[in-house]
Amino acid sequence: MNLVPLRRRARRMERRFREARMLARAFRHQYQPVAAHLIPVRRCNLSCAYCNEYDDHSSPVPTRDVLRRVDLLAGLGTGIVTMSGGEPLLHPDLDQILRHVRAHSMIATVITNGYLLTRDRIRRLNRAGLDHLQISIDNVLPDEVSKKSLKVLDHRLVWLAESAEFDVTINAVVGAGVREPSDALVIARRAKALGFSTTAGIIHDQRGRLLPLDDRQRMILEGVVGLGKSLFDFANYNRFQKNLAIGEPNHWHCRAGARYLYVCEDGLVHWCSQQRGHPGIALERYSQEDLRREYHVEKKCAPLCTVGCVHRVAQLDELRQNPEATLREWFSAADESEQSRLPRPIGILKWAFVTSSRRDFFRNVALRAFRAR
Ligand code: SF4
Ligand code: SF4
Repeated sequence: MNLVPLRRRARRMERRFREARMLARAFRHQYQPVAAHLIPVRRCNLSCAYCNEYDDHSSPVPTRDVLRRVDLLAGLGTGIVTMSGGEPLLHPDLDQILRHVRAHSMIATVITNGYLLTRDRIRRLNRAGLDHLQISIDNVLPDEVSKKSLKVLDHRLVWLAESAEFDVTINAVVGAGVREPSDALVIARRAKALGFSTTAGIIHDQRGRLLPLDDRQRMILEGVVGLGKSLFDFANYNRFQKNLAIGEPNHWHCRAGARYLYVCEDGLVHWCSQQRGHPGIALERYSQEDLRREYHVEKKCAPLCTVGCVHRVAQLDELRQNPEATLREWFSAADESEQSRLPRPIGILKWAFVTSSRRDFFRNVALRAFRAR
């Protein structure tokens, strides 16, 4: 008897509880990191032309150092720890590291190019307690820009659909360097057919510049977003990607260095992968004072930033500070002929936690239920 679907369902329910607890804590504590990217190895087995986050030679970070960094992130109150790279599956002790993240009750996620996934590797990731895996697929057929291609990865996606007990998200991209924009729709439809979540990313060129999308690319981006299941990603599109797609700046406060940390292979904290060196302080010495300072620092790179995970984290703070206006903006109508409509579950949450005269009671119940006080 195949027990994977049952185990997957049970683990998903337990994970949703932990995610809700993480969100409750993020609302409660303004100066705690919601998410951190941790680099266990800078080396990658691929060499995508647009990428500035890998090399082809460095050794894995010693396991005891990575474990210590996980302890330090837990000490700061971090909710989600994402193993990124380079290619994190190249680290020989990745499973031990993931177990350590879970032992601290944090959410363990991995971003991979998928090339090293086998049936056995997927089962080992299940056993390590991985919560979430993201694969970014750039095109249908490999080309000189990227080999993260559906044709190469498809059988691995099938293995994931058969065996993974963790959530899987496939990120499809549009923008500079993507030869055939409609590939993103092919990739997103295939991911959906296999039961995965999908997200859409706007890719920058080799020099990190964001180029506005043409009409066809914009329609494809909207199509991919429409296939996604997450209300939060739809909101992210409305809040950030719509403007970026037409080359317009976004007005927002990037909270990198506070709500989001990027910890490089040398154990230094940076704002993000694209702004390494700021502030460049050792995680060992990173303190409440650093979190408070970075929370309020204005980042000049913010208007045209494409770093989706930091956008998502910023959305939490916008919601925390001004829930009614934020929800209105997130769920504004796609065009003027349509009416803005708040999805029903969000409407209920808004009533309970924002507009109801008993909102303090509901908030206290939620904080107690999620042990987030
Ligand atoms: S697979 Fe990822 S880390 Fe490796 S070169 Fe491509 S984009 Fe960079
Ligand atoms: S605005 Fe974007 S690029 Fe600049 S620090 Fe924040 S996440 Fe990084």
